[in-house]
Parts: sequence; structure tokens; C-alpha cells
Amino acid sequence: MAKLTVKIPGHLYDVHISEQAYDLLGTTYADQLKKADQIGIIADEKVADLHLEKLTTSIQSLGVAPVVKIVPAGEASKTPAVFLDCHSFLLQHRFTRNSLLIAFGGGACGDLTGFVAATFMRGIAYIQCPTTILAHDSAVGGKTAINMPEGKNMVGSFHQPAAVLFHTPILQTLPAREIRSGMAELLKHALISDVSWSEELLNNQQFISPSAEWLSVELLKGIEVKANIVEEDQFEHSTRKFLNFGHTFGHGVEAVCGFGGLSHGECVMIGMAYSLILSERHGLQPAGIADRLIEFAQRNGYTFEPIHQHPFTHFMDYMAKDKKATYGQLNFVLLQDIGNPYVKPVTAEECESVFEELKNRTEAGRNDS
Ligand code: NAD
Ligand code: ZN
Repeated sequence: MAKLTVKIPGHLYDVHISEQAYDLLGTTYADQLKKADQIGIIADEKVADLHLEKLTTSIQSLGVAPVVKIVPAGEASKTPAVFLDCHSFLLQHRFTRNSLLIAFGGGACGDLTGFVAATFMRGIAYIQCPTTILAHDSAVGGKTAINMPEGKNMVGSFHQPAAVLFHTPILQTLPAREIRSGMAELLKHALISDVSWSEELLNNQQFISPSAEWLSVELLKGIEVKANIVEEDQFEHSTRKFLNFGHTFGHGVEAVCGFGGLSHGECVMIGMAYSLILSERHGLQPAGIADRLIEFAQRNGYTFEPIHQHPFTHFMDYMAKDKKATYGQLNFVLLQDIGNPYVKPVTAEECESVFEELKNRTEAGRNDS
């Protein structure tokens, strides 16, 4: 069983990745569960249909009965209405400050549950049981949020989980699109931290059909990168910003496609191609990495269609509203070289010209993607 401890001051917790991770609820975490006066599972509808029993069996083995709140699958759960509904549910089931929540789903369910846990009676404990590859990123680090009609993740807080349990057999039911989504975030972790790992991924022929064994090792590497950064900068004053590599433009794509049109990581892949072109303009060596990433992405079934179907202004309108846009300038995470990120303010004019360049560079591979 792979294990990693996240060491945020005042919040030490373990991330477990294994084929039997949920067994730990009946052993390592038994005391914590038994001490809770009520246990609530907030479960993604689709994930609950497929896998809820695996989770509840481990908890029921302790002789305690969790209550289950099913929320809409994926991004549709991150709304103010679902958020309030979860709070009502907890109140109706007499949850208190000594109750415990478990997030059972991908990053969306994890973000929602984390925010419910952060705000219920000013904060209760929660355990992340992530069920997507992407959630190797979202389940660690304590960022929680819901979306507003005006923008994604606009209301939220920092609230660290008590533990993260990655039960790997559950990943086997992920649709291809969600595998691509999570693998894009994994590649992001490689690009911002390690040149040889990035090379390994870019040369990997099984990138979007990973074996369970290989994936466990890779998830741990990704979580290590995330944990190291979060330990250094929990509240995103400095290095945590690097985790936004590919996200400034990526979030723009996500918004333009209407949250949920493309998966989060697919949008981030477009955003990373965008950021690499920008990085090359500002001196990234070796040149050519942007084209390599574009070719790699198109070969692996990632699409660049949104940038061919929507004008730049649609993306810009959204990016200007992004939390990372300070004082009218857009801040992008760029790479000095692979593994060395930095933050650079960029003008709207340059943003537009990079957009046009990305369109040109992805034109040739359009039919293949
Ligand atoms: P998701 O939670 O939206 O899930 C995607 C889809 O996969 C859903 O339809 C879901 O029902 C389904 N699904 C989940 N697990 C499955 C399984 N094992 N088998 C079959 N289907 C399954 O997607 P995600 O990519 O995990 O998360 C994206 C969200 O994470 C976004 O809202 C993003 O903002 C957030 N995020 C948060 C952070 C953070 O630090 N908090 C970081 C990155 C992303
Ligand atoms: Zn992301």
C-alpha cells in the first residue's frame, strides 16, 4: 500500500493509494469513525450506482451506519442549490460539530463535500475518497469550492481533509474522457517539476490506457508534487500558483464550453499548450516543446476544437474575471525550462496573439483529433 503524509502545519494527514484502501476505514481510521456521532457520505450519483457498496461495507463492518446523500454526477453538484441542500440534509439528520463527512466521487464531489464540511457549524472533519484520476490533484491540498453562475470555483475556502483514500479498483470504470482529464493533470505535475518524468510521460504509448499498477506509481508521484507545493504555500501566496499551470486559459475554455462540455483536464491540456507557446516566446528552452505537446495531445485524442469554434474575446472575457487576474493584468504560469515554473503578467494583446498562434499550430492535426 503506497502512503504519503501531507505535512501542512496543524494539518498532518495521510494519502493512501491501494487496491484495498477502504479497508483502512475499518482499521487505521476505525477510532475516528467510531468517535463521530454521525457519518455522512456525500456521493456522486454515478459513482454511487457503480461503487457505493464497496465503501459502505467497510464502514458498516464497524457497526456504524452512515447516512448517504446522493448528489448529481460531476460538475452539476457544485452549485449553491446542491450545497444548501447538503446542509439541510445534515441538519435534518442531526449532524453536529462531532460528525464526519466522506466525499465519494471525483474532484467535483470532493470540492463540494469539502466546502460543506468547511462551513457546516463552522467546520467539521471530512475524508476524501476520490474516484477519478484527476482527483489525485483535487483531493489533496484542502481547496474546496462551488461554482457561481458568474464563474467557476468563485465561492470556497481552504479546509484540509483528515485523510485521502484512493481505492484504485474504482478507477477501472472511468470513461475515456475522464482518463484523459486526469492524465492531463498528471502531465501538468510532471511539467512543473521534473524534466525526465515529463519526457517519460510524453514518450509513453499507454498514456491514456494506463495499467492499474503503473497508474498507482504515477498517482503517487503526482500527489508528491502537489503535497510538496501545498506544504510550502498552503494559501497560494507564492509557489502554489505554479499548480495553475495551464489553468488560466484552461478555465477560460471550460467556461466558454459551458462547465461540463469538455472535461476539466481536457481544457487544461489546451491551456498547457497555450502556456507553452507563451513560455517559448519568453525564452523556454528547448524550443519545440509546445509543438511536441500539441502533437502528443492530438495523438492521444485531446481536442483543440473550442479555440477554433469561439472567438478570442469569449475566452478573454472570462479570463479577465479569473481570481488570478490582479490589477487588470493576466498572470500566467510559464516555464523557464521544463520543471521550472514562474509567474508572468501578460498583456491582453499578447494573449490574443498567442491564441491565434495556438489556432495555427493546431490546425494541421484537427482532423485527427
Ligand atoms: P468530476 O468529479 O466532475 O467527475 C467526472 C465524471 O466522472 C462524472 O460524471 C462522475 O460521475 C464520473 N465518475 C467519477 N468517478 C468515476 C468512476 N470511478 N467511474 C465512472 N465514472 C466516474 O471530475 P473530476 O475531473 O474528478 O473533477 C473535476 C473537478 O475538480 C472540477 O470541478 C475542478 O474544479 C475540481 N478541481 C479541484 C481542485 C482542487 O484543488 N480542489 C484541483 C483540480 C480540480
Ligand atoms: Zn486542474
